[in-house]
Amino acid sequence: MKSGSDNTAEVVTFGCRLNTYESEVMKKHAAEAGLENTVIFNTCAVTAEATRQARQAIRRARKESPDVKIIVTGCAAQVNPDEFIAMAEVDQVMGNEEKLHAENYKNFGPDFGLEKSEKPLINDIMAVRETANHLIEGYAERTRAFVQVQNGCDHRCSFCIIPYGRGNSRSVPAGDVVAQVKRLVDNGYNEVIITGVDITSYGPDLPGKPSLGTLCQKILKLVPDLKRLRLSSIDSIEADEALFQVITQEERMMPHLHLSLQSGDDMILKRMKRRHSRQDSIDFFNRVRAARPDVVFGADIIAGFPTETEEMFQNSLKLVTECDLTYLHVFPYSIREGTPAARMPQVDKQIRKERAARLRALGDQQFDRYMTSQIGKSLSILVEKHLPEDKSVIGHTEYFAPAKIMALYSLDNLKPGYIAKARVTGYENGILITELDP
Ligand code: SF4
Repeated sequence: MKSGSDNTAEVVTFGCRLNTYESEVMKKHAAEAGLENTVIFNTCAVTAEATRQARQAIRRARKESPDVKIIVTGCAAQVNPDEFIAMAEVDQVMGNEEKLHAENYKNFGPDFGLEKSEKPLINDIMAVRETANHLIEGYAERTRAFVQVQNGCDHRCSFCIIPYGRGNSRSVPAGDVVAQVKRLVDNGYNEVIITGVDITSYGPDLPGKPSLGTLCQKILKLVPDLKRLRLSSIDSIEADEALFQVITQEERMMPHLHLSLQSGDDMILKRMKRRHSRQDSIDFFNRVRAARPDVVFGADIIAGFPTETEEMFQNSLKLVTECDLTYLHVFPYSIREGTPAARMPQVDKQIRKERAARLRALGDQQFDRYMTSQIGKSLSILVEKHLPEDKSVIGHTEYFAPAKIMALYSLDNLKPGYIAKARVTGYENGILITELDP
């Protein structure tokens, strides 16, 4: 691992879209501070495995580059700083709030480091009340741009460590969000993805108490050149009426919703401290589908949550088809020390894995069925990457299906970020095969 090609700082990102957005902010601060020969790890704590991978990457970086400076930040560092402070490979540890402040990078002189008895830059994330806006120009490697609208979470789902890494919910003022989206559109982005930790809790901390729905309405109104607005994961029970209107009435709002369902069993949802019942999920699905029949759904579901019986698990399996889920993200339950669920009677690890495999298998069937149903349709594909080897490009449809445009004479007209109309001619290896509409 070498620090940035021109010896500037390199940022290694783990985890969610919010971390990806924040890594762009950190790259900007590090460059402006002239930070050199440094690698910054922006970690994730959502599962024990995510934290383990970060530690492994840090050790590898030190082995490959003995003299590089290593800074660790992100949720794993915020939740358990001592774990990283104790690593000989690590020069500094920064909290999730501190990583977003430019002045902290200016303090990293050529010879900084914990062994120099420098204090780790970590404060009480629960004390953070505001989320400052950081205007970014774009993403080095992305044609679809993430925009942070919210951070933190006021809920305390019994399995989740995120609030301890991100603090309580706080919203970015709507004007700043619109300015960020405008900047990205001016820089050529045709798709913006609204991201945060719990985006449906957007707004109550702001004057006038806007909602996620009114924010989306504002973005679409004030940035008429934005072609595609997409939502990241939402908590359907918190979806406000304005959001429902935007999702079902606005063509520029992408017809693809990812729901944070977590389980299909009411007793497990109760023990997870979730705010919805299985019937609430089904009602939301039916209401959206009734108003906009082509909306495609994805969802997060946990397999093997403590006390989950086979019968309860069956309710999760049934929910997949009852909500016609196409994109299923399955997580075998992962113990997070410090969470209430960690103190509950655990389901055997092997059973968790086996249930996750059954859920994924059902998810694959749902995905295959949906993808096959697209053959013959004409769809809009946002080009993300060129594949010169077979003169094709790949990207995603408005329904977030991966797609490949084949049989191109030249790739020149299909620059990354461009939205092309193409007809689906087939489905292979998890991707739609298409040809440009004449
Ligand atoms: S809503 Fe629940 S699962 Fe989501 S971040 Fe908050 S506590 Fe975690």
